[in-house]
Amino acid sequence: MERYSRQEAFFGIGAEGQQKLLASRVCVIGLGALGSASANLLARAGIGFLRIIDRDYVELSNLQRQMLYREQDAREQTPKAAAAAELLGQINSEITIEPVIADVNSGNITGLIEDVDLVIDATDNVEIRLLINEACHALGKPWIYGGALASYGMTMNVLPGGDAPCYHCMFDEQVPDGETCATAGVLGTLTSIVASIQCTEAIKILTGSPDVRRTLLAFDLWNNEFDALEVTKNPDCPVCGRGEYQYYGKVSGSQSASLCGRDAVQIVPAQAAAVDFDEIAARWESCGKVTRKRFTVDLDTGAYGIKLFADGRAIVSGTSEEAKAKAVYAEYVGL
Ligand SMILES: [Zn+2]
Repeated sequence: MERYSRQEAFFGIGAEGQQKLLASRVCVIGLGALGSASANLLARAGIGFLRIIDRDYVELSNLQRQMLYREQDAREQTPKAAAAAELLGQINSEITIEPVIADVNSGNITGLIEDVDLVIDATDNVEIRLLINEACHALGKPWIYGGALASYGMTMNVLPGGDAPCYHCMFDEQVPDGETCATAGVLGTLTSIVASIQCTEAIKILTGSPDVRRTLLAFDLWNNEFDALEVTKNPDCPVCGRGEYQYYGKVSGSQSASLCGRDAVQIVPAQAAAVDFDEIAARWESCGKVTRKRFTVDLDTGAYGIKLFADGRAIVSGTSEEAKAKAVYAEYVGL
């Protein structure tokens, strides 16, 4: 147990707490800046089972803050979950790391979180957080919200049951749209801090500490402002007040979503399909440059790029228009 000796020596964890961490199961949703920092910290802390999920692949602009990735991953456009799992496996080979290359949506979220003790939110949009909030409420799981933009960070523990507020209690029905990391930028120092606080709270929750934070922490690193805000439970909240869900449990058809700050759109077919990479690659031979990779088969038509995953999901680049991307998908993949 030399590996965890500094954690065991810490009064808040001890040998007993370390055993609890080793027996814990955590799901990290999103492996961008927040998720790669969290997965790194949790793997090193000895969380016994880590499910790490991301739908995207590594790009050069990620390396400034997404600390599990290397230049080679960006060059090869490795899926983030695969690149992260490979490095984490070398950091701690004594825990179980399950990489999942997928889009988290209402159709698959139950299977991804029902067997874990806690969920770390490391996503980048409100809609997925509302889904996580509803799914965790339905399944009685704690989750930890984290957000970062420019130099402004926020995090809150969302704990099941009791008088604790949920994520929806903080928001109106309307999904606000605002600036993104692509337009406003984001400091790598900020995302590290938000993830560090999320993981500290995760360790407290998993070890049963009485010192779990009950406030919404909001801070601006550039302007030196730190606030701990009281959030009260809204008795009329549709999620934690009435148990009515807007996203969770809803059957969704095929979906498209333009990816934040990218000239690219993700297409998720209504039903996952097992793609035969050889068959697709042969079919695409006359359509442009075809590249077979470990987790994808890629087509560059000159005007568009298609990165097709084994489950039929694709990232279409060269447009941020969902309708255009769907047409490209229908033309070349047509599942
Ligand atoms: Zn609520």
